[in-house]
Amino acid sequence: MKRSLCLILGDQLNLTMSSLLGFDPQKDLIVMSEVREDVTYVKYHKKKIVFIFSAMRHFAEDLKQRGYPVKYTKLNDRNNTGSIFEEVERIRKIYEFDKIVVTEPSEYRVLEDIKKWKSKFSIPIEIRSDNRFLCSHEEFVTWAEGRKQLRKKYQILMSDGKPEGGEWNYDIKNRKPFKKKFNIPRTYTSNPDAITCDVINLVSEHFPDHFGQLQPFHFGVTRCQALEALDKFIQQRLVNFGDYQDAMLQDEPWMFHSHLSFYLNCGLLLPLECAKRAEESYQKGKAPLNAVEGFIRQVIGWREYVRGVYWFEMPGYESRNFFNAQRKLPDFFWSGVTKMNCLKQCVKETQKNAYAHHIQRLMVLGNFSLIAGLDPKEVNNWYSIVYADAYQWVELPNVTGMVLFADGGILGSKPYAASGAYINKMSDYCKGCHFNVNKKNGSNACPFNYLYWDFLIRNKDKLSDNHRLVMMYKTLERMSDEKIQTIKDDSNHFFGMLDNA
Ligand code: FAD
Ligand code: SF4
Repeated sequence: MKRSLCLILGDQLNLTMSSLLGFDPQKDLIVMSEVREDVTYVKYHKKKIVFIFSAMRHFAEDLKQRGYPVKYTKLNDRNNTGSIFEEVERIRKIYEFDKIVVTEPSEYRVLEDIKKWKSKFSIPIEIRSDNRFLCSHEEFVTWAEGRKQLRKKYQILMSDGKPEGGEWNYDIKNRKPFKKKFNIPRTYTSNPDAITCDVINLVSEHFPDHFGQLQPFHFGVTRCQALEALDKFIQQRLVNFGDYQDAMLQDEPWMFHSHLSFYLNCGLLLPLECAKRAEESYQKGKAPLNAVEGFIRQVIGWREYVRGVYWFEMPGYESRNFFNAQRKLPDFFWSGVTKMNCLKQCVKETQKNAYAHHIQRLMVLGNFSLIAGLDPKEVNNWYSIVYADAYQWVELPNVTGMVLFADGGILGSKPYAASGAYINKMSDYCKGCHFNVNKKNGSNACPFNYLYWDFLIRNKDKLSDNHRLVMMYKTLERMSDEKIQTIKDDSNHFFGMLDNA
């Protein structure tokens, strides 16, 4: 009788995982382990550890109730070895197996480790493709038409072979700033049950020095709760998702975003079901096309695309540094103590929620990292630590490619650099700031204003022939030598006191 050990990793929490195909409960065994190395190779936000371990425990319970035999090891079990390889080795020695089956890990580092197991174990290891995604690695290579192809393939928001409404993209309607505070629905919350409370205590005891606030913890941790969160988004927020996608408001961390990335990235939700729910809402006339198209393009477009770039460019993508940026990450990325109100807001909300929405990550935290010339390794490390949805396959292309342009233009066609005027247009942060967003230079001028030009000056050799930056370099050419010197002086002065900025 041939027996398989089916290894399920912490972000593979779905009953449809390829590793479970053909599983025979009479003889096979599922192995799941909470391993220290997974949450300390970068020191995850406390909330993220609670989320992952609690979701794993709930998923294991669900599997057991459905009759699957599961060998689950908790972090504080006496015999837990702390590494996934050692765990498989330990369990393999207790039970006799003929084969190990695993779905391809989402991260390159883990896949490379598992491939090496082949020479360490005397039994075969079958690595199956990751069916949580719509686009395979092979399809990505021939993804000539970019992100539109998946909409055609899965017939999402299509009508007679054409995109619904005639356009593939409605972003032009999606850049409205908030004029006044209006009712933003509360995000989905669930009360921690006994399992989650146990994990909260475990994290408090074992990872006290990790970044972020542990409590209150309100993420869903089961498939059922993730579906409730999806429902709540579709019913309450999707209608305004498009219009206010780029807007930011003081003390409003959640806005009209979906807050589904945590669930999508650990398998509790699948991209196609989210896209279909949004499409259904449009068909019922409950949400406008610009919102629905925008959401679908992100879930089955951008998300699949960044994953494709990650696997296509790894290894090597991690060490890209197109601008040779070397500056260390300022302390306020950890403490939130800074006079720059926009950065303070985003870091404080990140500490509290292990979440910031896209435009905060891109145009405040990311924009600052880009124009201040922060070292891509340090910036990537920070983003990997602080967000509950961070996994290298999605974090790295967003940071190295989209935000820092450290890949020299593989993912995006130009760096997303912007001055304070953009932040002022899209948010109300500047009203409560120590700095003056309308001032270009001097001690109380908004640092984004001079750092933006300093960035373009510093990187002229690398950027001046980028056709999307021609206008900016023309403006720079018209600047007097005196003005350019003032920009450089203000920037150097700012860099000199960066940790206290
Ligand atoms: P919504 O705004 O509601 O968007 C809906 C969904 O679309 C998201 O849940 C997500 O699954 C998907 N999506 C949207 N944009 C992207 C994108 N650029 N890349 C991939 N998926 C996208 N996303 C992560 O999941 N993990 C990360 O570690 C991560 N790091 C990021 C770092 C930076 C610097 C930037 C600019 C973006 C990053 N993103 C990351 C993408 C995006 O910001 C988050 O997916 C989003 O903020 C999650 O919140 P939400 O679920 O409310 O998203
Ligand atoms: Fe940020 Fe500048 Fe506005 Fe202050 S003035 S909140 S630093 S953009």
